[in-house]
Amino acid sequence: MPRPVPRPVPVIGVFALQGDVREHLATLTELGVEAIPVRRPVELERCDGLVLPGGESTTMAKLARTFELLEPLRERVRAGMPTFGTCAGMILLADRILDGAVGQETIGGLDVTVRRNAFGRQVDSFEADLDVRGLDAPVHAVFIRAPWVEEVGADVEVLAEAEGHPVAVRQGHLMATSFHPEVADDGRIHRLFLDLVG
Ligand code: GLN
Repeated sequence: MPRPVPRPVPVIGVFALQGDVREHLATLTELGVEAIPVRRPVELERCDGLVLPGGESTTMAKLARTFELLEPLRERVRAGMPTFGTCAGMILLADRILDGAVGQETIGGLDVTVRRNAFGRQVDSFEADLDVRGLDAPVHAVFIRAPWVEEVGADVEVLAEAEGHPVAVRQGHLMATSFHPEVADDGRIHRLFLDLVG
């Protein structure tokens, strides 16, 4: 009997010029993929999928431009690389932003309008148990100066809402959450993303 050929472990990058890099690397590693920090285009080339972490989206976009990572990121996302943005990472994936800094750039690809610091006008940070499409039990979501999604394009599927606004969305190979799934000890949201990687 021929033995089954083991499938190669996917390589998932975590954008690592700024943000919550370590927590994402730990969660991904626990889920059995090879998780690597991405600071340079050669590292991006190795990736089968990418996580854009929380942090400060203006700084992340500027650093990506400075380190010549912004155009390669745009190309890979456009070419279909599964990509998951959390919080600031959601802003980076959005095609349109409201309350952005003047001239704030994004990677884009996700057909949504995202409002930066949307909840933060009332409170800076909060936690909530959310029903997420595709998951049996609610997810404990941590929001930190979080954006919300203000408008979604026709191909965007809303996976979860908070205060009447989408806070988790999926569109083809792209996924984004306003909250920080990497800080909860719960790999289910990352697992939903890894389903896109295949
Ligand atoms: N408010 C931040 C921004 O605009 C995002 C906050 C976060 O990622 N926790 O980039």
